[in-house]
Amino acid sequence: MIIVMKQGAGKEALAEVKKQIRELGYKPHVIHGDTRDVIGAVGDERGKAVLQSLESLPGVESVVPILKPYKLASREVKPEPSCFELAPGVVIGGDRVIVMAGPCSVESEAQIVETALAVKAAGASVLRGGAFKPRTSPYSFQGMEEDGLKLLARAREASGLPIVTEVVNPGDVDLVAQYADILQIGARNVQNFALLKTVGRIDKPILLKRGMATTIQEYLMSAEYILSEGNRRVILCERGIRTFETATRNTLDIAAVPVLKSLTHLPVTIDPSHATGHAHLVPSMCYAGVAAGADGLIVEVHPCPERAASDGPQSLRPAEFAAMMANLRAFVAAAGKQL
Ligand code: PEP
Ligand code: MN
Repeated sequence: MIIVMKQGAGKEALAEVKKQIRELGYKPHVIHGDTRDVIGAVGDERGKAVLQSLESLPGVESVVPILKPYKLASREVKPEPSCFELAPGVVIGGDRVIVMAGPCSVESEAQIVETALAVKAAGASVLRGGAFKPRTSPYSFQGMEEDGLKLLARAREASGLPIVTEVVNPGDVDLVAQYADILQIGARNVQNFALLKTVGRIDKPILLKRGMATTIQEYLMSAEYILSEGNRRVILCERGIRTFETATRNTLDIAAVPVLKSLTHLPVTIDPSHATGHAHLVPSMCYAGVAAGADGLIVEVHPCPERAASDGPQSLRPAEFAAMMANLRAFVAAAGKQL
């Protein structure tokens, strides 16, 4: 249920409503709006009618049901887009398109530092790099783990770019959070509910990839797992879904961008690298993503793709990335945003 407070209702009224929500066995999530506050009361769907009684409390304007199964992620609870800091000075969800770029996997200090400096010079504002890799084959490179996280921290020092890196299991969340500015949940873990709940309890933004076979509704329910634990900083990422098509690694569901933007207030990004699997297709999908209204892009870049430990064929060389970024400016301007 959504408890809509009256314009100008004071702090005491809000505190009293929160207290009563808890007493009825629900969790209050306050969303401070421009003109008024609303409180999402979430919990067991079956007894929610009891919340209707809160309508008589001072400062309450109305109590209305949230129709969507994802509550905190929905536009019903929060009509205006969520806009939040990924790191000091890097805000997603507003009028900037945030570009995250870097290699699929961290491989060496020279590789990650060189890539960080190159993507920064080209205009990226976040460095990506995997230290824990979820690979289809157990015989493929699994990532440098904590050594990789240390190298990412070195690259952050050298470049000033905040870092996004994947966490694949709940036991590693604290470790990864010690190093990362943003934690990524990969496509394969989109319904790893234990992992979603664990990252919901930390105070770092989460980049949640769409699974290769999750519907939009299932995807938003996954985001809801994180939000319902208290972490409000969730970034969505469309990275291609499985279809019958084999010319591309996955099929970029570009319509998912405006669909998600209409259903949720959370920022939406696209990953054209995993979506296509081929470096030459990446720039056009970056432009398409921005035209579709994406708040950001995450792009794989490697100084020497032919020698990459993972995902070389879809990785741009630094010069190709710089050329893409130069062309991107016109699309970003046409979308009424800035890089
Ligand atoms: C990645 O970002 O390198 C990755 C493994 O992505 P996804 O989970 O989208 O496959
Ligand atoms: Mn990859």
